[in-house]
Amino acid sequence: MSRVACAILDTTDPLAPARERFLLPEGLIYLDGNSLGPLPRAAAARVERCLREEWGNGLIRSWNDAGWIDLPTRVGDAIGRLIGAAPGQVAVADSTSINTFKALAAALALRPDRRVILSERTGFPTDLYVAQGLEALLGGGVTLRLVEREEAAAAVDGAVAVVLLTHVDYRSGHMLDLAAVTRAAHDAGALMLWDLAHSAGAVPVDLDGAGADLAVGCGYKYLNGGPGAPSFLYVAERLIGAFRQPLTGWLGHAAPFAFEQAYRPAPDIRRVLCGTPPVLSMAALEAGVEELLAVDMTRLRRKSLSLTGLFRRLVAERCAGLGLLTYGPSDPEACGSQVSLRHPEAYAVMQALIARGVVGDVRAPDILRFGFAPLYVRHVDVWDAVEALRDVLATGAWDRPEFRRRAAVT
Ligand SMILES: *Cc1c(COP(=O)(O)O)cnc(C)c1O
Repeated sequence: MSRVACAILDTTDPLAPARERFLLPEGLIYLDGNSLGPLPRAAAARVERCLREEWGNGLIRSWNDAGWIDLPTRVGDAIGRLIGAAPGQVAVADSTSINTFKALAAALALRPDRRVILSERTGFPTDLYVAQGLEALLGGGVTLRLVEREEAAAAVDGAVAVVLLTHVDYRSGHMLDLAAVTRAAHDAGALMLWDLAHSAGAVPVDLDGAGADLAVGCGYKYLNGGPGAPSFLYVAERLIGAFRQPLTGWLGHAAPFAFEQAYRPAPDIRRVLCGTPPVLSMAALEAGVEELLAVDMTRLRRKSLSLTGLFRRLVAERCAGLGLLTYGPSDPEACGSQVSLRHPEAYAVMQALIARGVVGDVRAPDILRFGFAPLYVRHVDVWDAVEALRDVLATGAWDRPEFRRRAAVT
């Protein structure tokens, strides 16, 4: 393998033109789209229009005239097309943490004779924290039971109301078999809640096909919706009528502008909503999602596997003996669109890489995480990133006090 061979792969890449649709800083290799996707050019234009025309000129009229009020379901349906959800089952609102709270609470209400939330011990902390908060709120009636991720499917028993799992693990990239685990939960009479934070826009997902019940996910990662973009919540059609979530704000009401005294949930997916949507963020997210809808998910996955496979191969070849360990499944097919490595000085190594224009991130205690978003990452970027990594390790360039200084966000 050579850099020239990588460049040839890029010239035959059917997704190559998509890169031009993003505003990426010159010379930067961005391998952190799994934490914060880059800015689509169309999003900049869309937000500008939303600001100046819709807000500036339209003012309050834009709730109707610009369709602001329908953004949660319109963008929800668009995201639905990326995750195998037919229209009417996805709404965009709030954060993933809050949507997880709503979905867990609703799932417990749907299985009143069962009082256990089953989840993974090494799951993303916010998911666990939210489950702990619900456990405390519901006062001893509900317990959070944690098992190893790989053992979750077998651990569902008659006490489990809902199983909460991340489809693609945020640290290792390990991907569960969504259909098989859903089936196992159902066989034991439990509901399945998927966290698709590292799946939506990164790997093909077929929620309807898998018979999934509930799912949540992030707007600002692979969906490129911008910092703090709202999250999405999926409720399978057959459950919507009985889905009752506790954050019963007015926009989830059947008739918000009737200003009734008593809460009545909307008959459709809008019952997952609570308050007023963040219109500017929604506009950016809609533009980000459209970039993904313009490409074929199977093609996207094929390129993702090509990039992650190349990265793994080059790291094995060119960084051998430099103190790196692999982390997560060795089979790329069992992984999302990221590759993780371990190094005892992961934090300083990553800061040294960032100083050279290769941006990934670290996860405690010693994981270097590299995300490969196929819309804008090229094979030559993979080559250059591995060369930078090799050089930082071989020369000890990471071993400087400024690279050890921890920032608030890692
Ligand atoms: C990023 C991420 C979240 C983020 O939740 P927010 O409420 O948007 O901060 C939740 N779950 C998983 C698995 C994540 O990776």
